[in-house]
Amino acid sequence: MMLKVEQLTYTYRDGTKALDRISFSVPNHAKVAILGPNGSGKSTLFLHFNGIFLPQEGNVEVLGIPVNKKTEKDLKRKVGLVFQDPDDQVFSSTLWEDVAFGPENLGYSKEEVEHRVERALKAVDMWDYRHKPPYHLSFGQKKRAAIAGILAMDCEIMMLDEPVAYLDPQGQDQLFSLLNELYQQGMSILIATHDVNLACEWADYIILMKDGRVLAQGGTELLVRED
Ligand code: ADP
Ligand code: ADP
Repeated sequence: MMLKVEQLTYTYRDGTKALDRISFSVPNHAKVAILGPNGSGKSTLFLHFNGIFLPQEGNVEVLGIPVNKKTEKDLKRKVGLVFQDPDDQVFSSTLWEDVAFGPENLGYSKEEVEHRVERALKAVDMWDYRHKPPYHLSFGQKKRAAIAGILAMDCEIMMLDEPVAYLDPQGQDQLFSLLNELYQQGMSILIATHDVNLACEWADYIILMKDGRVLAQGGTELLVRED
């Protein structure tokens, strides 16, 4: 299983119950959409998949690995998160440095870091911009740069929070053709979105959330009403 969530509950310090006994599972190598309105708990859920949050109650398994104190580091390396706002993620003085940050942190040799950064920037078609500071880039370019940072770490799952926020139609097309390419190469992709059309058109598996609960889960037929 790519994801297995059992009775997961998460309460923020101020008492807000962001996740309330949710359960679902997703098979390996899928294009998954967590679909729900703002505030339904999508981001809180994502943060459990890369070990930033540990389950307070219930269990989460990612790629067969239980999420806990012992595995959180491993999960941070296996599961990459692309933030909704790339300005929160891409901010070094050059794009090269941004993408190198992850593999450098993982302790790879200089040669290996260079190899990974080059491969990642070429994969997202941003190699020519490697000397540029991110503030010179368009939103779509920054988003692709954030994706490069994750590719440079060789993550097995990529999660994107509201992937098309702020992107123009061309930026959206470029992003989704990149995501589809990465999927074909074996990566599992998970998006959080409030956009029903986007989820139905792109995903092959949908988890429908509201108020911290899972209302439905399954293939896109789930959201087709036959009446
Ligand atoms: P979504 O990603 O679907 O918009 P979130 O996971 O961000 O949903 O939020 C779920 C609920 O948790 C919302 O009620 C939100 O206001 C609340 N929440 C999110 N982050 C925090 C926080 N740091 N402290 C308190 N409540 C939070
Ligand atoms: P160029 O043709 O511009 O020299 P290179 O592929 O040789 O291109 O290098 C890419 C650029 O990326 C370098 O000029 C440098 O600015 C940056 N760079 C290369 N290696 C590193 C590194 N280890 N750390 C930080 N920046 C680097």
